[in-house]
Amino acid sequence: MKVFTTVKEIRKHYKNCVLRSPGFVPTMGALHEGHISLVEAAVGSCRMVAVSIFVNPTQFNDPEDLKKYPRTIEADLDMLSLVLRENDFVFTPSVEEVYPEPDTRVFDFGQLDKVMEGVHRPGHFNGVAQVVSRLFDIIRPSAAFFGQKDFQQLTIIREMARLSYPKIEIISCPIVREKDGLAMSSRNRLLLPEHRERAGEIFKTLLAAAAMVFDTEPDDIREFVADRINMSPGFNLEYFEIVEDITLTPAKSRSEMSSDKTYYGCIALFAGEVRLIDNTDIRLR
Ligand code: AMP
Repeated sequence: MKVFTTVKEIRKHYKNCVLRSPGFVPTMGALHEGHISLVEAAVGSCRMVAVSIFVNPTQFNDPEDLKKYPRTIEADLDMLSLVLRENDFVFTPSVEEVYPEPDTRVFDFGQLDKVMEGVHRPGHFNGVAQVVSRLFDIIRPSAAFFGQKDFQQLTIIREMARLSYPKIEIISCPIVREKDGLAMSSRNRLLLPEHRERAGEIFKTLLAAAAMVFDTEPDDIREFVADRINMSPGFNLEYFEIVEDITLTPAKSRSEMSSDKTYYGCIALFAGEVRLIDNTDIRLR
């Protein structure tokens, strides 16, 4: 595997290769098995793979969150070296390399960023779109791999690719979980032990909520989720929402929900100071 920090090095690498359009896995580092599952999917289906490690400042609406974000570059490279092949590469650019000029682009995602993360983290998805489009322009991939863990992000990137990068195939990969059900996340390492111990409750609550759609109104399910999460000392629900796949339209009542559609139950909460998100699919059949 190669490690590049500049666009110039990538261009030079492409000149030496027959293949110049890799499968691409963008990450912010502090890698875990969830990230590695994306890299393995890319290696399994693409003859060249590029992985980026870049903590993108423009997607952090909270400067403290950016400062606290874990950075473990040496361990990340060790993990990647076990999976990547000779001509695959890791791109670890500086902020100036990704943004030679400040990125002032404003993206319009219609209703897609008017719910959930879009409401609670203003500007977050604009920053995500900025960095993903910059990285797409630099890497020029044929396919890009994203985790279902960031369900709203995946939906928004699909829309961005449909509009601006129709040749890049967007591939979604399932959520990798710890034994107790907690979705793997770089932020999990910031959890206090007493919060980590109880964090399996998040996915259990999501599954219980998903099972309630057959006979319970969305508002009542939301109340159930809030009660169950907030009951746990130090846990604080930010939102729970049931939304339609693709459009992200929130389900308002059971009578409007259709067994032909797929829904997602999406949760965001604070465990102490650490903000966690998770989701599960919900079907009425
Ligand atoms: P991040 O480094 O958090 O920006 O994540 C990089 C990519 O890894 C995103 O596409 C995430 O959705 C994906 N990812 C993060 N955690 C998981 C997980 N537990 N399972 C599957 N994919 C994940």
